[in-house]
Amino acid sequence: MFTSFENKSVVVTGSSKGIGKGIAKVFAKSKAKVMIVGRNKEDSIKTVQELKVHGGTVDYFIADVTNQDQVEQLMRTASDKHGGIDILCANAGIFPQKPLLEMTTDDWDFVLTTNLRSCFQTVKAVVPYMQKKGMGRIIVTSSITGPVTGYPGWSHYAASKAGQLGFVRTASLELAKYNITVNAVLPGNILTEGLIALGEDYQKSMAATIPMNKLGSIEDIGYAALFFASKEAGYITGQTIIVDGGQILPESIDALNATK
Ligand code: NAP
Repeated sequence: MFTSFENKSVVVTGSSKGIGKGIAKVFAKSKAKVMIVGRNKEDSIKTVQELKVHGGTVDYFIADVTNQDQVEQLMRTASDKHGGIDILCANAGIFPQKPLLEMTTDDWDFVLTTNLRSCFQTVKAVVPYMQKKGMGRIIVTSSITGPVTGYPGWSHYAASKAGQLGFVRTASLELAKYNITVNAVLPGNILTEGLIALGEDYQKSMAATIPMNKLGSIEDIGYAALFFASKEAGYITGQTIIVDGGQILPESIDALNATK
């Protein structure tokens, strides 16, 4: 059993829906004070209402994570409302698909700015609040795509997700002396609004490649983030957890078929 998260202040970027919402839900159920972050006000309000049923403090802040001023305002607001910031889940991300030979520099920059640059900006903005507390936990949502696997159409996305891990490893070294840990969760295929938008065929074909035979849930990622955020994980930094139902493991089609 982990030490209680009651009254811990948590900021989860990209939590108006999808994996971020699952992470926020797990923290809200653990009685933490949660700040929902997204660009869409309607989705953010809906998520706050859904999570409030667990009895904790849940607020929202509208911010585009690619905008440094908005990110800094987010941290100020979260700290003022929730008594500082203990935990940051840098989760916001996009995954538009485009074959390499059709990809423009603007396509590349859009994905790298949203997924990788924003990760740096969000982490940098939260550190002063964690230094004030004398501790902190930062959890980045990366992916298996890039760090471990490849998928045609996602070279920009894969580069952004692999880049996040390079960032995590060096940031964890620089922040260790402040008692701030930086770790990453690598989801496989998780049933989110973003993934549903890729179509039913994509979902079916991905589920067939997973030894556990199903896509992951948003809460599956939430519990991995909760572990990294716990007092008990305080000596773990610069590390990753893959949460993918065994998807990356089979060495061949035969090995995969043997799991069915
Ligand atoms: P999703 O369902 O599309 O949700 C994306 C979330 O990010 C939304 O809350 C969205 O909020 C927010 N967001 C996107 N761009 C933003 C921006 N510029 N500023 C602020 N918020 C922004 O996607 P998801 O599947 O949950 O993905 C979440 C994270 O998990 C991403 O980093 C993704 O790479 C990673 N991941 C997902 C999977 C999967 O299977 N789903 C697998 C591996 C990794 P608004 O629309 O309100 O702005």
